[in-house]
Amino acid sequence: MNKLLIVGTVAFDAIETPFGKTDKILGGAATYIGLSASFFNLQSAIVSVVGDDFPQEHLDLLTSKNIDISGIEIVKGGKTFFWSGLYHNDLNSRDTLVTELNVLADFQPKVPQNYKDADVVMLGNLHPLVQSSVLDQLEKKPKLVVLDTMNFWMDCALPELLDVIKRVDVITINDEEARQLSGEYSLVKAAAKIQDMGPKYVVIKKGEHGALLFHNREVFFAPALPLEDVFDPTGAGDTFAGGFSGFIAQSENISFGNMKNAIIYGSNLASFCVEKFGTERMETLSKAEVAIRLQQFKSLTQFDIEI
Ligand code: AMP
Repeated sequence: MNKLLIVGTVAFDAIETPFGKTDKILGGAATYIGLSASFFNLQSAIVSVVGDDFPQEHLDLLTSKNIDISGIEIVKGGKTFFWSGLYHNDLNSRDTLVTELNVLADFQPKVPQNYKDADVVMLGNLHPLVQSSVLDQLEKKPKLVVLDTMNFWMDCALPELLDVIKRVDVITINDEEARQLSGEYSLVKAAAKIQDMGPKYVVIKKGEHGALLFHNREVFFAPALPLEDVFDPTGAGDTFAGGFSGFIAQSENISFGNMKNAIIYGSNLASFCVEKFGTERMETLSKAEVAIRLQQFKSLTQFDIEI
């Protein structure tokens, strides 16, 4: 079985949307990526850090999804990374209210020995120096390295972020962040500039408006499935990244054509994530439900015009 190595935050989140409010619940980029990638036939491991305030039941949840958590360090007396966000009425934009790095501030990641030859590496959102350090520890060049990041790191660690971006094959970011990183308003120009920074493939996530994949002069677009119920978009981007990297790891095919399928898998899984608060929907989601919605995705985008 192919191996997917996941790096990112394992966290506490407090979320407020027009539909309700949660106290500190399970969150974090690596958590969402891991839950999403668990729908594929592969071995996966998370490298992250938490404090000893982090409940064992959250770690048990990850283990129950066959995710290797030996790379999640638990710092005695430390506090887990905490993020709080407030969504606006359109649910497409949000304000970050609090980001407490806590144990993440001094984190030195350790890649488990049996994942130093991972086939695919998914560098989830966290400090770019941690992302680089994970790449430094690998003993074999992975078939694909995917990086996700956000404006927080562009604001506070841009040179380090530019260094790690040089080393990856695929970057996934949202439209606002692509504009901030490139200084271009047009997403076509932004993607071209970002390709010049290193990644040959640029995925731009546009929330409920779908996702774009750019490679050289080629571009592919996947819509987001129109949903009846959207409660909480938190983690949708990470769930997308988990579906994308999980599918690539399972299929071992890194062609542009297969990446299109990976974008569809990522969008499909993300469509479930937003239906309930936090990780709730992903925890109970079944493979059968994923397959049914994949068919809906196909119908949504298929047409028969002869050209
Ligand atoms: P998303 O909605 O896909 O952008 O991801 C939301 C998740 O990212 C939440 O569960 C947060 O815990 C996590 N998160 C928020 N800010 C950061 C940050 N600066 N670095 C890493 N993870 C973060």
